[in-house]
Amino acid sequence: MKNIVLFFIITISLYGCSSVPITGRQQLSLVSDSEVLALSLQEYDSYIKSAKKSTDKTNSALVEKVGRKIADAVEAYFKATGQETLLSSYQWEFNLIEDSQVNAFCMPGGKIVVYTGILPYTQGETGLAVVLGHEVGHAIAKHANERMSQQVALEYGNAAVGAALGKASSTVQSIGSIVYGLGTQVGVTLPFNRKQELEADHLGLILMSIAGYDPNTAVPFWERMSQQSGSKLEFLSTHPSDNTRITEIRKELPEALEYYNTIWGKTVPASSSSSNSNGNWHF
Ligand SMILES: [Zn+2]
Repeated sequence: MKNIVLFFIITISLYGCSSVPITGRQQLSLVSDSEVLALSLQEYDSYIKSAKKSTDKTNSALVEKVGRKIADAVEAYFKATGQETLLSSYQWEFNLIEDSQVNAFCMPGGKIVVYTGILPYTQGETGLAVVLGHEVGHAIAKHANERMSQQVALEYGNAAVGAALGKASSTVQSIGSIVYGLGTQVGVTLPFNRKQELEADHLGLILMSIAGYDPNTAVPFWERMSQQSGSKLEFLSTHPSDNTRITEIRKELPEALEYYNTIWGKTVPASSSSSNSNGNWHF
């Protein structure tokens, strides 16, 4: 028995880890990408069929435009770092959905939804780049896979994980149901943890910089969000306190600006003031 347990532990340590692009953080990865993608596409399809797409052509086009630029940044980054093979996991889609909740979410494989309720806070293109950068960040860091893997580990214990994986689909399917809350409120954000949220911010900053958006604008966006945090902002309910997140973002700005300035031939410093950096106004 001891030997079997040892075998599983060794198996997990060999095959149960992957690393997050850009940040390089090691993460638990016990569920296969194809299982996660199959589950999330199924979930996404049923959600998008019932969702009300925004009839606001200008803002729908803007969400699509900014989303494509962020997706292009992912492609550029993966190509520049010799990781092109990772690109096949993503088929990006960016939708603006009529919903008053102040929120946006991402599903594995690059299906991203922005609610119209967040537009008064994004206030145009650069604010959307912050939100979409963050959501794409969750996708490329495979945070959903990580959450499911943590769930597997919790349910079955480390030693049983290998056995659970051996049985594949039915086990993973039932775990998927827990994680995605199938049959309840479709389309609700996955319960990412704080570490993942801050990591998505970090990745978002880098991606928006590669895409040509000044990362300094992330600070005023989150300040606008935090001014409303007394009210029921869904986006904040699953996210870290704004002070923590703004502090972390400020620390990461020099790194992001290095991408922005080098790629786009700029000399923008990290800004301490938040005025004049709200980008294009559409309201
Ligand atoms: Zn998030």
